[in-house]
Amino acid sequence: MSVNFSTAFKDPDLSRGLIERLHRELDRPLRFMEVCGTHTVAIFQSGMRPLLPAGVRHLSGPGCPVCVTHESEVAAYLQLAEKPGVIIATFGDLMRVPGPGGDNLKLAQAKGARVEIVYSAHDALKLAADNPGDTVVFLGIGFETTAPTVAATVLMARQQGLANFCVLSFHKLVPPALRALLADPDCAVDAFLLPGHVSTILGMEPYRFVAEEFRTPGIIAGFDPVDILQALLIMVEQRKTGEFAIVNSYRRAVDDAGNPRAREILDTVFQTADALWRGIGCIPGSGLVFRPEFEQYDAMARLGLTLPEARPIAGCKCGDVLKGKMQPCDCPLFAKACTPAKPVGPCMVSTEGSCAAYFKYNVEA
Ligand code: SF4
Repeated sequence: MSVNFSTAFKDPDLSRGLIERLHRELDRPLRFMEVCGTHTVAIFQSGMRPLLPAGVRHLSGPGCPVCVTHESEVAAYLQLAEKPGVIIATFGDLMRVPGPGGDNLKLAQAKGARVEIVYSAHDALKLAADNPGDTVVFLGIGFETTAPTVAATVLMARQQGLANFCVLSFHKLVPPALRALLADPDCAVDAFLLPGHVSTILGMEPYRFVAEEFRTPGIIAGFDPVDILQALLIMVEQRKTGEFAIVNSYRRAVDDAGNPRAREILDTVFQTADALWRGIGCIPGSGLVFRPEFEQYDAMARLGLTLPEARPIAGCKCGDVLKGKMQPCDCPLFAKACTPAKPVGPCMVSTEGSCAAYFKYNVEA
């Protein structure tokens, strides 16, 4: 029998059955982290949240690229905006991410900086081809999902001999962030809902330490209700038996081995380095910088940028939200001083940000 993927994983009867099973099987509280903001939004959109057993508690995670962009990195973007002859090419969400003193790229643009919104690194490359007298800098953010496409674009720039294109690479890697969260003695995570998109590149192997070293379940899940509910049931089962493993519950999109070709392209252009995460701080080996042979595409070196020290925004609790230690609505600024129209912290900016999702779906706890 063939499976209709567009409807089978949204099936209300299947979902209802899984929710009933969760009510029967859950015999202890389950605090699970939705590492990826897309899962957070999918859970709200499906309406499943109030139907889950009371013992199931959702924690947000550091899987929204805009949310984890550090204040110092925004300060570097603002340095860049002051350089003559530079066109900044960026995803739209980054425009409103606050940096030191609440400044952002939108303000810089209003003051005359040349900033263009693009939908991919490849669009930025086209911008460079169309503006040979300027240097186009693509603001590289995102995780293992987007970084290979940026690396592929750099290889394309080299092949085309486009010398006026470079990248400010603030890409981040998910497994080192999970390790940092788990190594924190106050970590409150019982299980991880692992990000489906990132896993299409990584596969299962890079997550093994989660189960083996930290004895915590990690389930790779898709974004439809049946996907998420199945993953929750597997978490409950593992917590009951004490047999912890990484499970690929999203086989229709994620190969167990991930995408070796994408990882190879990534490794050709970038190497790992320590990186700053908003509200979390420096995580060893969690960033991507250019290999020396690609230095001409490194905006940091090419344009003499620095990563200035920047103090966290007063009162913003994004760090605690991203570490699963606080619900967005417990931040004193939530829905008062901080709203999507006037965000104080990055988690209120992006549609994938936890605070923005909690605000949009009017969730109070
Ligand atoms: S509500 Fe605003 S200030 Fe508070 S944690 Fe979220 S983004 Fe930061």
